[in-house]
Amino acid sequence: MNIPKTSFPRIVIVGGGFAGISIAKGLKNKEVQVVLLDKHNYHTFQPLLYQVSTGGLEPDSIAYPIRKVLKDYINFFFRLAHVEEIRTEENTIVTNIGTLDYDYLVIATGSETNYYGNREIELNSMAMKTIPQSLNLRSLILENFEQALLTDQYHERDALMNFVIVGAGPTGVELAGALAEIKKGILPKDYPDLDTRRVQIHLIQSGDRILKEMSEKASQKAEDFLEGLGVQIWKNSRVTGYDGKTVTTNTDVDFETATLVWAAGVKGVEIKGLNAKDLLVAGSRIPVDEYNRVKGYNNIFAVGDVACMQTKDAPKGHPMMAQPAMQQGRNLGENLVRLLEDRPLEPFVYRDKGSMATIGRNKAVVDMKNIRFQGVFAWFVWMFVHLFFLIGFRNRMVVFVNWVYNYVRFDREARLIIRPFNRNYSAFKD
Ligand SMILES: Cc1cc2nc3c(=O)[nH]c(=O)nc-3n(C[C@H](O)[C@H](O)[C@H](O)COP(=O)(O)OP(=O)(O)OC[C@H]3O[C@@H](n4cnc5c(N)ncnc54)[C@H](O)[C@@H]3O)c2cc1C
Repeated sequence: MNIPKTSFPRIVIVGGGFAGISIAKGLKNKEVQVVLLDKHNYHTFQPLLYQVSTGGLEPDSIAYPIRKVLKDYINFFFRLAHVEEIRTEENTIVTNIGTLDYDYLVIATGSETNYYGNREIELNSMAMKTIPQSLNLRSLILENFEQALLTDQYHERDALMNFVIVGAGPTGVELAGALAEIKKGILPKDYPDLDTRRVQIHLIQSGDRILKEMSEKASQKAEDFLEGLGVQIWKNSRVTGYDGKTVTTNTDVDFETATLVWAAGVKGVEIKGLNAKDLLVAGSRIPVDEYNRVKGYNNIFAVGDVACMQTKDAPKGHPMMAQPAMQQGRNLGENLVRLLEDRPLEPFVYRDKGSMATIGRNKAVVDMKNIRFQGVFAWFVWMFVHLFFLIGFRNRMVVFVNWVYNYVRFDREARLIIRPFNRNYSAFKD
């Protein structure tokens, strides 16, 4: 991999997401050699992917070059590489660009869409976990309307204009709200010769409430907001199959649609090589101790979505969200320095800063530790928090300007089919 050997211990971090970048920051200019590997050369701000899918933001505004994050860091190396295997006996990792030795290894590979073994749904549905996937979805949504103009079959036209979203967590709720706003504000202007009143947005949830990780008040308010926008919510309903045309469920309601968005779950990104018995926590997460050390290993750590730290406060591990990933990354960065200086390590303590979701213009729900609120103020808080955590001044400016423009003009100008989506071309799936 052409990385020089030095007298400093080598820490290899796999993944430049929220957790990986936080660790790197903690190791800046310390007496270590750090090698950060990622299969993308950019960090993705996943919470705003749905805005890319719905033409509200350009993809570049939620991505940030990893090399730029590391630009003033001494003894840091970035390589664009896909890590395929860990050889724990040899302290080596295998990647698509060669092998690399490590003294300490940090796995920060995040999570991927979980289809719970349903191959048919995996093949035919749309995911929204990466920027390429979001661009695929954006293209498909727009292509559907272009196609709907061409057909004289009512049945086919309706299927093209039906959108089914599975999973009513923040991703599903935010996407449903954005689609409903497009239906109201954009489609009648862009497609005057289509009866866009027939567009339907269905949000399907297996449990008895949406946003189930949030308070009941937030769930109820989000449901009211969505219904006000015309979204049809199906609770206690589990999707069982989708052949590209019909969504089947465990109830007697099926849906004809050309677009099924699967936002119903994630699982840790597995890398071959860790002792299989260690990967036993639900959702393919790697069990770690309170220092993020992978159980059974002294020099391998896992952090963020891929790690499962079971504590008294979090018996199933911490939520797979940006805050735990960033906080664990920060703590692990400091602990690695302590470890190298032979100082005692600090256990991780999660500080829950709350959760939030936006449903659309002036509509959001926020749950904080001691205060819960919904509506316009919540929407401003949601925007402020997302701008604050975006990486890069330029990105913050671009997103802010876009939001102001979209708000004032009731518009989403990134509704472009730059790279057509071809369902049969599987390379476009990821
Ligand atoms: C659509 C969507 C909306 C979300 N909204 C919110 C929200 O509103 N609030 C919130 O707190 N959280 C939200 N999340 C969750 C949040 O984004 C994740 O919890 C967070 O990104 C986890 O950070 P991480 O560092 O563990 O992983 P990630 O940020 O996913 O980073 C993992 C990195 O590892 C790299 N990688 C993976 N496998 C390999 C490999 N084999 N080789 C090399 N590199 C690899 C990836 O390219 C990626 O850069 C959302 C997620 C999605 C998908």
